Amino acid sequence: EIIMPRPDHPRVLCVANQKGGVGKTTTTVNLAVALALHGNRVLVVDLDPQGNASTGLNVPHHAGVPDVYDCLIDNTPLSDIAQPVEGIPNLFCVPATIDLAGAEIELVSVVARESRLARAIAAHPEKFDYVFIDCPPSLGLLTVNALCAAQEVLIPIQCEYYALEGLNQLINNINLVRQHLNPTLDVSTILLTMYDRRTRLADAVEQDVRNHFGGKVLQAVIPRNVRVSEAPSYGQSVMTYDPGSRGATSYFEAALEIALRGVDNGGAA
Ligand code: ADP
Ligand code: MG
Repeated sequence: EIIMPRPDHPRVLCVANQKGGVGKTTTTVNLAVALALHGNRVLVVDLDPQGNASTGLNVPHHAGVPDVYDCLIDNTPLSDIAQPVEGIPNLFCVPATIDLAGAEIELVSVVARESRLARAIAAHPEKFDYVFIDCPPSLGLLTVNALCAAQEVLIPIQCEYYALEGLNQLINNINLVRQHLNPTLDVSTILLTMYDRRTRLADAVEQDVRNHFGGKVLQAVIPRNVRVSEAPSYGQSVMTYDPGSRGATSYFEAALEIALRGVDNGGAA
């Protein structure tokens, strides 16, 4: 039996990269399930109007379901919106519906527009061990809300040629949020995703990323694995869909590393 330590303090991680298709949602869903299956109380906040994290966790998110839009725009408490994830005790999801597509624009004229999500999470009566915020592929006000609500940023990087391109823009935005809105925000974790062992390119990208980000890069690397991409169509994470697959075992290793680092840092990074 593997011991997955629980953090001393609630950890809020923003999963961000303005590039689409790099594995943000897949990482959010699978880390959340891995941590919840090992005794942690975990909340996933789906902050992408596409609602992929809600789909992946099989949480209803059709039009009319109370969603994160209601929290951001109308101040509805998160406890009225969060839904339990079926089959995974201790895991909850704040879904995104199509309503969220308008929020980026509507937020512009709202009071304290950058800190709506931070306030909602802070006001939540129940404390979670982990909150994962799945960001949309942009650097707009939704992502800024996630960066203001989090203590840590987790950046998934796809092992491909243009991997590091565009990351400067994300890092600049994180620095701006740190300077003006959330002084303790830390890029704590980089995760290499969709790694293809057969290509020399993947190896070169890995070396580049490790040289650039040093110890922030998890030792665990997520391979490209068809079971990972099949799981969402069954409304499951790969952790439950095929626990023995290389996708599942590597996401478990990544979750364990994140949990152990949290304890080493004395809780929040
Ligand atoms: P993002 O949220 O950054 O847009 P996703 O997590 O949705 O990225 O991943 C993009 C696509 O790649 C999805 O179809 C997903 O199923 C697939 N995918 C993600 N990680 C893997 C992996 N390790 N192996 C195979 N397919 C993957
Ligand atoms: Mg996504």
